[in-house]
Amino acid sequence: MTAGGGGGEPGARYDAVVIGAGFSGMYMLHRLRGLGMSARVYEAGDGVGGTWYWNRYPGARCDVESVQYSYSFDEDLEQEWEWSERYPSQPEILRYAEHVADRFDLRRDIRFGTRVTRAAYDGSTRRWRVETDRGDRVECGFLIAAVGCLSAARVPGFPGADSFRGASYHTGRWPHEGVDLTGRRVAVIGTGSSGIQAIPVIAGQAAHVTVFQRTPNFSLPAWNRPLDPEEARWVKANYAALRQDMRTSPVGLLVAFNDRSVLEAGEEERAREFEARWAEGGFAFLGAYGDMSIDPEANEVAAEFVRGKIREIVRDPEVAERLSPRDHPIGSKRICVDTGYYSTYNRPNVTLVDVRRDPIKEITPTGVRTAGGHHSVDVIVYATGYDAMTGPLLAVDITGEGGRSLRDKWRAGPRAYLGLMTAGFPNLFTITGPGSPSVLSNMLVSIEQHVDWIADCLARLRAGGIATIDADPAAEDAWVAHVNEVASYTLYPRADSWYMGANIPGKPRVFMPYAGGVGAYRQKCDQVAADGYEGFVLSA
Ligand code: NAP
Repeated sequence: MTAGGGGGEPGARYDAVVIGAGFSGMYMLHRLRGLGMSARVYEAGDGVGGTWYWNRYPGARCDVESVQYSYSFDEDLEQEWEWSERYPSQPEILRYAEHVADRFDLRRDIRFGTRVTRAAYDGSTRRWRVETDRGDRVECGFLIAAVGCLSAARVPGFPGADSFRGASYHTGRWPHEGVDLTGRRVAVIGTGSSGIQAIPVIAGQAAHVTVFQRTPNFSLPAWNRPLDPEEARWVKANYAALRQDMRTSPVGLLVAFNDRSVLEAGEEERAREFEARWAEGGFAFLGAYGDMSIDPEANEVAAEFVRGKIREIVRDPEVAERLSPRDHPIGSKRICVDTGYYSTYNRPNVTLVDVRRDPIKEITPTGVRTAGGHHSVDVIVYATGYDAMTGPLLAVDITGEGGRSLRDKWRAGPRAYLGLMTAGFPNLFTITGPGSPSVLSNMLVSIEQHVDWIADCLARLRAGGIATIDADPAAEDAWVAHVNEVASYTLYPRADSWYMGANIPGKPRVFMPYAGGVGAYRQKCDQVAADGYEGFVLSA
């Protein structure tokens, strides 16, 4: 059976099955092959790239700089690939993912258009049985979830949504052929990173854009530009050292974090520092002062600087105020990075509706009805986010030791040791799973760290004649407590964010990623491995 072909694979056996062919699944496959292990990757999309395969909305772009948002595992790849812009656009990142798939001949082990529906651990054979929506029934020794943190798209169930006669799209499920919005009246619901990137581009095409905003977000300017060839050359000449700095940094990025306190800085110094960081663009602003992420008063100084910028940019003071976040500390929700977002509200063809004051009542055949009136539109864009981190994994019916389901185990929130394994589910690894830095970091850095750790672990298990590895429940409890404790020192729990599961009605409110920093986390994982996988239970 060829990868991507029709029908199922009944009875095939693999050393490992990987779920997902985004950046984590692709690199995992490469490492498994290097170990001489047989592997099958199942991918729901028809191509590689994961999030970058699906997110084709207008303006989709990574908010990590291209030279940092790339694989480091192969020096030739790193040296040969040319990025064209400071921040890579979705099409360019997808081209990069496809190039990697070609270069390492990955596709032959990937079955595309195939979604894993069920995975059950069989204690008697100590193997996983995996089923897909295309009739595959295969067995494997190790199951590796490379499902991504933001892949379960979510559209809120607005009454009447099905009656809408125009077209509607979720940003994360954008049609591959694109959508011509020229002359159309467009509603955009949601102002997170996706909405904030899409709105300026849509406003440049559409006759009119009505933005339905529930919570204003803080957004920082990207100042995107073509990548200076001199700068690219310098980066390539110094890649080894730069990558090492990223791996040991707080968030996997080359951002200078300042330890000083904003409260102790004089007003002039603050203004200088904030202006310089604003001018630098992107995440640099968040590194301005050390106390911004832990002290509400310090945070408010930074937040007010950004609100001041919004007031400077947006001409209508009432609109500027509506766009100014006041209900959460800056950085406690995922910060957005934009190109011309706030100035878009100076355009005559853009209207901002505050749905906290004027809630959406229903979608009608011709538009969106709020408490205050009806907005007639031709197209609705749902920029309404994801069931983050746990959603993609729990979408698969996973049962572990004794038939216990993961959905049941994680009912009150995810529990995992180091974000790598969850007790009672032997030989199941989660790449960038809950309890690891994942979404609080440069995903490429965290993906490579997890894949390398897992691959090294598999090699050592094989060398030691070990058949199974599982998290020890006590070590898992201690790690979950540590993840919560670290979060409690920060301002993250003060926001209703998807980090907390707060965007999904009924989802447990638990801070899911690990806020202790990429460098410290890597050290911990390496130490655990060096100590013979302390906190894991190994069985011959
Ligand atoms: P998001 O941050 O969860 O934003 C969803 C938006 O939809 C929010 O404004 C939310 O309002 C709104 N919303 C949800 N349900 C609603 C309802 N019933 N009524 C009205 N509004 C509703 O999702 P996202 O923008 O897709 O971004 C998710 C994450 O993906 C980002 O945080 C980031 O990590 C990643 N991402 C990265 C990039 C990049 O690299 N540039 C781009 C896009 C996404 P509330 O805030 O009130 O819930």
